[in-house]
Amino acid sequence: MQPQNILNADLHCHSVVSDGTLTPEALAERAKKNGVELWALTDHDEIAGQQRAAAAAQALGLAYLTGTEVSVTFAGETVHIVGLGFDANNAAITQGLHSTRNGREQRAREMAASLASVGIAGAYEGALKFVGNPDLISRTHFARFLVESGVCRETNEVFRKYLTEGKPGYVPHRWASLRDALSWITQAGGVAVIAHPGRYSFTPNEEYALFTEFKAHGGQAVEVITGSHTKAEFVKYAETAREFGLAASRGSDFHSPDESHTDLGALPFLPGDLQPVWELLAERILR
Ligand code: AMP
Ligand code: MN
Ligand code: MN
Ligand code: MN
Repeated sequence: MQPQNILNADLHCHSVVSDGTLTPEALAERAKKNGVELWALTDHDEIAGQQRAAAAAQALGLAYLTGTEVSVTFAGETVHIVGLGFDANNAAITQGLHSTRNGREQRAREMAASLASVGIAGAYEGALKFVGNPDLISRTHFARFLVESGVCRETNEVFRKYLTEGKPGYVPHRWASLRDALSWITQAGGVAVIAHPGRYSFTPNEEYALFTEFKAHGGQAVEVITGSHTKAEFVKYAETAREFGLAASRGSDFHSPDESHTDLGALPFLPGDLQPVWELLAERILR
């Protein structure tokens, strides 16, 4: 195994700036305490936490890469694209993310109306109590409200019974295109990464199309080791990385001490023969 691969990098997690429950500063401390050596905060469709995260990491002597997780619609499904190592002041990415956040407010009101129609009242106001950033109301905030109000025991149960396709509270939404998301990230000097490919319900043909188009638009990496993958998926997506000539990333997707089963930094190392995404980003690491 190359020494570069034996790095406790955690390049995927969420703060109160999107749907996590910890502040960027608390996440930096938790990452450091858990032995993380290279960290990125990747809030959904939002980079307002980047300065705080970078400053907190620097104060702790923790190497840092800028990050975000962009919501994309591809072949009728939502796909997440992580961006790493971009310039957080670049207009292409700040404006692109701003435009894609816009639809969330209206979607949230429609979600609440749908929940009200099955007897769950006040969900919009209820979800808002859990929102740390008014620009970023997400299904996770509704899930926390449904747990708090006793409708479900835990957030996983909420997503099984509500808020997903075919269930009450689900509102279809068109996110950014794959091409736009990649152009925002690459124009800002970053590297684009397909997040948790094992989570999508694509046919093999659709998945092949996703990886092919991702590469054609300048995508360079895929999450192989993520808190969202099983051990079998570690193996499967390591093989996909080899097949498509993509670098590999590693991230917990940590959201909350109470909800997440994979803590910051608590993951196996990358397979030794894959190129770590941080090798492509050596110049962009903040120390
Ligand atoms: P949104 O961007 O508003 O559609 O919310 C997506 C977020 O909901 C994801 O980033 C996860 O944090 C959360 N989520 C989606 N599906 C599940 C699930 N099955 N269990 C727990 N959380 C989920
Ligand atoms: Mn999330
Ligand atoms: Mn995701
Ligand atoms: Mn995530």
